Amino acid sequence: MRRALIIAATLLTTIVLRAADDAGARWWAHVEALANDGMEGRNTGSAGHKRAADYVAAQFRSAALEPAGAGGGFIQPVAFDTRKIDESKSSLALVRDGADERLALGEDANISVRVDPAASLEAPLVFVGYGLKIPERGIDDFAGVDLHGAVVVHIAATPKSLPGPLQAHFGSAGERWKMYKAAGAVGVVSVANPKSMDIPWARSTLARLQPAMSLADRSLSETAGQQLSVTMNPAHADKLFAGSGHTFAELLALVDAGRPVPSFTLRPRLKARVAVERAQVESQNVAGILRGSDPRLRDEYVVLSAHLDHLGIGGAINGDSIYNGAMDNASGVAAILEVADALHRAAAKPKRSILFVAVTGEEKGELGSLYFAAHPPVGRERIVANVNTDMFLPLFPLKTLMVLGLDESDLGADIRAAARELGLEVQADPEPQRNRFVRSDQYSFIKVGIPALAMKVGYEPNSPEAAIAARWTAERYHAPSDDLNQPVDRGAAAKYVEVVTKLAVRIANRTDRPKWNDASFFKRFGRNSTAKFFNS
Ligand SMILES: [Zn+2]
Repeated sequence: MRRALIIAATLLTTIVLRAADDAGARWWAHVEALANDGMEGRNTGSAGHKRAADYVAAQFRSAALEPAGAGGGFIQPVAFDTRKIDESKSSLALVRDGADERLALGEDANISVRVDPAASLEAPLVFVGYGLKIPERGIDDFAGVDLHGAVVVHIAATPKSLPGPLQAHFGSAGERWKMYKAAGAVGVVSVANPKSMDIPWARSTLARLQPAMSLADRSLSETAGQQLSVTMNPAHADKLFAGSGHTFAELLALVDAGRPVPSFTLRPRLKARVAVERAQVESQNVAGILRGSDPRLRDEYVVLSAHLDHLGIGGAINGDSIYNGAMDNASGVAAILEVADALHRAAAKPKRSILFVAVTGEEKGELGSLYFAAHPPVGRERIVANVNTDMFLPLFPLKTLMVLGLDESDLGADIRAAARELGLEVQADPEPQRNRFVRSDQYSFIKVGIPALAMKVGYEPNSPEAAIAARWTAERYHAPSDDLNQPVDRGAAAKYVEVVTKLAVRIANRTDRPKWNDASFFKRFGRNSTAKFFNS
């Protein structure tokens, strides 16, 4: 009898393990399908991205989802304007005492065409420290300087005294431009803090010749009116500060110490000439619905999202020019495909509907999700929550789940309960200064008032796992080596899929709709503020 029990227990363990193995293997098969060289890095608007979108649509169909795209299909087309800089006809110079000092493009500074730049511009440069004006927090980096007609120079950092979500929100390019525009500025020079750069200059500069994109739907533009966007190599930033009585090192030390940073007009003016090749492309969001079972709740939706696009083909590193984006973010799309499949195989009948969407244009500024949130295939007020997966990094076993937005809404209780069932710890973002809560597609939903969470495989600060994650970021993030030849932990991916599945069902079965916590900063983006946000 006892022997039989032991055999039965062993058998059960084996079955459970095998199921996890299978889920991990299926997840990896999706990653392989989306991140192989034939997909050419899934750049927004590319043929490779279209093939990847067709793959996702086919998987949605086999998971018996209802099409939620255009014309009865799974695909929602998204139109983009593209801009590509012609560096041979573009230039940047510092004008000092009437003499031009050329800045070497690619080396000293890069012109970003993520904003639609003016063909030429000459303007004073005004340094504004963190570059923030947040009256409700008593922060005004613009005090005592005149920004009318000026190009703002800021260090891409936020004061440590601000709570993480506020650092994340106000540090975003769109929010910054709102402040600069209101103060009369015409352009922005951003100098990275070398300590918080995810990508070293030598690598990020390789991407500068890639086309940048904006939504053809101009009403969704967050940078309207911005005539110039420049990123300055922090190693060469003293070219800006020469003659000001300040050095970049000294200013950076204030930032690193969390101290106030002075604002002052810089000695040189900035002269820019920008030649741009413009075109239009179409790309794809892919959307499908697992229809809910409750007659009262089935017209409400829990959105599970992950971005499908990556960087395409770009500057070669070690002879490889295909930026496959296996972890960023084939891994996340593979996870939601596996969630859809798991629910289908289990014949799950959640009360609310679950809307799966693979979005395009994340790498261009979360544009596919912005479009989706502005033009959802179901009424926006019917979307009750968003759970986003972007680069969840299953590089080691999943024991702790990192939850971005954990303490912002009552979805925190849902994820804590789902994690508990699987014996997982949860943690809030251990590095709020990296602005991760607003740096992916969940933010497009947050901005229209929808409570959201995003999750990753977590780690304790200063642990061996933290070192693995940091090394991954330094070596593979936005590099061609984020490909199929890297060590991943399929067991961690399987467990991640399990917790997202549980969470989605749990939210779908709630009696009430999720809501922001009263103390949450993000509560201000109520549903009534939608129009205001999109037209501002
Ligand atoms: Zn990315």
